[in-house]
Amino acid sequence: MSESLTAQRDFVAATSGQVSWQQAMKSAVRSARELAEKLQLDQRFTKLPHSEEGEADFPVFVPLEFLQRIRPGDPQDPLLLQVWPAAEEADKAAGFTIDPVGELGLKQLHFANDRILSSAPTAIARNEGRLIQKYAGRCLLIAHQACGIHCRYCFRRHYPYQEATRFDPLMQQALAEIKADPSLEEVILSGGDPLVLTDSVLGDLVEQISSIKHVKRLRIHSRMPIVIPQRVTQALVEILSSSRLAVWFIVHCNHANELDQATQNALERLVNSGIPVLNQAVLLARINDSVEALESLCSQLINIRVQPYYLHQLDRVLGAAHFEVPFQSGLLLIDELRKRLPGYAIPTYVREEAGAASKTVIQAK
Ligand SMILES: *Cc1c(COP(=O)(O)O)cnc(C)c1O
Ligand code: SF4
Repeated sequence: MSESLTAQRDFVAATSGQVSWQQAMKSAVRSARELAEKLQLDQRFTKLPHSEEGEADFPVFVPLEFLQRIRPGDPQDPLLLQVWPAAEEADKAAGFTIDPVGELGLKQLHFANDRILSSAPTAIARNEGRLIQKYAGRCLLIAHQACGIHCRYCFRRHYPYQEATRFDPLMQQALAEIKADPSLEEVILSGGDPLVLTDSVLGDLVEQISSIKHVKRLRIHSRMPIVIPQRVTQALVEILSSSRLAVWFIVHCNHANELDQATQNALERLVNSGIPVLNQAVLLARINDSVEALESLCSQLINIRVQPYYLHQLDRVLGAAHFEVPFQSGLLLIDELRKRLPGYAIPTYVREEAGAASKTVIQAK
């Protein structure tokens, strides 16, 4: 079969939801060139300059399920801008670093000491950074290093995630540490993306966590239902809805165009099974930094009973300066949103501050 016929077949399969989520991961687009070709953008990248350095640093990874929501031929598409390795990634903007949230620092300190406390008494990284506790009562477990999409603005782009790619003995150690700390009522499965794990591995993990008596809540942080909606399998819904733990699900969607029918159906499968689903978005220049974009995102989310939770100020990660929106603009957007939507549709505008005891709410002075 010719390359274009194969591509056509994959495309049709992706559109019709006929492929498994694992197959969707395998057929994901993995280069800027392929992305430009599939989207009928200038093949020599003259209209769409890109950064070879950025791409080498953090490869392109876009499943066809997500790609088919991008308008062909439009270099300004808000979904394309999230995954395109733009020329600006090579810019070295002042204040932008490889570890804006202070997690790599924790990890490196960990190599020097068996268990470390950073300057903030609440920040603890254990197991080579697999288990991170920054805030009281809840810890974050890096369940898997990989993601279902590579978002160019992400602070994780500089993390050495290839170091461990499988569910491994570090996980057993992390579980033992959770068991040994009765103050931990909530375990957050994050990554990477925890839903890159198969249902059977995830089911085991959830069972092991639920066997720890003092843990009451399990939180899943995942972009998979948005990117590859067929990841929300019946088995996954059963694992989560039958657990003795109170399960909260946090998805990550930045723009209403991400919510196609298959994605809405996937989110509804979770909500209908009784699992509360919240959304976090990142405020991104040219992508969702208009009141229309945010209004459309938040209203479409509440229409499917997904509650906007956080709107994150961009972490100042090296190579992502072109995504930054000034605080003042963010505050104005939230004010305007409040005039247009019900109170429960308004996300809390926050930023991550290394060493702080919680996310920091951004407010007018
Ligand atoms: C953001 C974050 C959490 C969760 O914070 P909430 O305000 O409870 O949503 C937990 N642990 C870490 C390390 C985090 O970065
Ligand atoms: S961690 Fe989340 S935001 Fe970052 S690349 Fe993965 S899916 Fe995207």
